[in-house]
Amino acid sequence: MVAVLFIDLDGFKLINDTLGHEVGDAMLCSVAERLESLVRDSDTVARMGGDEFLMLLSEIGHEEDAARVAEKIVTSIAEPYQINDQELRTSPSIGISIYPQDAADENALIRSADTAMYHAKAAGRNNFQFYTGSMHEQVLQRLDLEHGLRLAIENDAFELDFQPQYDVDLGRITGFEALVRWRHGERGHIPPSEFIPIAEESGMIVQLGEAVLRKACLQMLAWHKAGMPAFRIAVNVSARQFWDGGFAERVREILEQTGTQAGWLELELTESTLLQHRGEKEKELLELRAMGIKIAIDDFGTGYSSLSYLKRLAIDRLKIDQSFVRELGHDSDSEAIVSAIIKLAQTLNIELVAEGVETVEAHDFLMAHGCTVMQGFLLGRPQQAAAWNSIAKCY
Ligand code: C2E
Ligand code: CA
Ligand code: CA
Repeated sequence: MVAVLFIDLDGFKLINDTLGHEVGDAMLCSVAERLESLVRDSDTVARMGGDEFLMLLSEIGHEEDAARVAEKIVTSIAEPYQINDQELRTSPSIGISIYPQDAADENALIRSADTAMYHAKAAGRNNFQFYTGSMHEQVLQRLDLEHGLRLAIENDAFELDFQPQYDVDLGRITGFEALVRWRHGERGHIPPSEFIPIAEESGMIVQLGEAVLRKACLQMLAWHKAGMPAFRIAVNVSARQFWDGGFAERVREILEQTGTQAGWLELELTESTLLQHRGEKEKELLELRAMGIKIAIDDFGTGYSSLSYLKRLAIDRLKIDQSFVRELGHDSDSEAIVSAIIKLAQTLNIELVAEGVETVEAHDFLMAHGCTVMQGFLLGRPQQAAAWNSIAKCY
């Protein structure tokens, strides 16, 4: 039996993009050394390109032998790397194919190992997977979706829904969150939870995110021209988009091109996006704030527990995560967390919005504890912009 291991490093592009190619190159060399040290002389280790390595175990007795090597790789690659006085980390996603059962020739073996590697990525990275026949079908589906996504971006085939944020105390809408929608030609409506991760991994999120931002700005203007008050519009920014070079500059350009006031725009970032790397990116965030853009922390309470960044980065708003809001009225732990977040925001003078308000119980709890701005199905579902035009008459 022969085993082919397809090894891809997790998050390597981020290291390359944020710390530079020299650091990336040094890291690849260390990875190569570690891989070589794990195999016998008769085995082969090769770099395919980028952060992809291939390993050929030429004489194995059982599949378990390949699994044991893969296990060693996972442990070894995850050890920290000391590069230019910096401690860096990565992890591998490994796909394994076996000759003769998985494929009969070298190209097919590599393809199968590559397919299995994708499954390792999808299974949360930092693990290995053996190739199975059904994987092929799933990979085809994913490629199909990726292809469809690329076409949709080229043809600008995305739409936005807008979900209102109500200030219950004032008795009116104060803003909207823009949520991207994609109707696939054959498969119909595909939820963002399915295609945003693909857009992230393939890098398409940068273009998609810009298109969303531009559409949101144009909608804001259209509403304003139609005599509606200047609602604040919140736009989601994904990690990859934020870490892509020149994000603040791109936002500035889009605001200028569309003639939108920065003060109407709120950008939603998650805690993990902000805290993945600190330092230079914080400057960019402060730049955005200096332009007058509001910064909100999405899904607050689910990420890191470090809170010092709230003041350091002068965060404008916290969005209390749905997972806590959903439990209000049933679960005392969630209630304790929500009331603590409300107190924290009040003390630090940060605005709040509770997400996923579906029930009267949640609404009442939030009101009683002083969180008056709410977003959720109880108050309004995400709908196309036109559905909200008529509310202009209410003001
Ligand atoms: P999110 O930013 O946390 O957005 C809120 C999600 O909760 C939306 O799902 C919204 O429809 C849903 N929601 C709102 N109120 C309720 C409620 O009362 N109950 C329940 N059960 N759900 C509620 P959606 O539109 O499917 O979006 C899912 C996620 O996809 C978003 O989570 C966001 O992370 C991402 N996403 C959506 N649009 C964009 C975008 O333009 N760019 C990026 N980067 N991500 C986006
Ligand atoms: Ca959001
Ligand atoms: Ca959220």
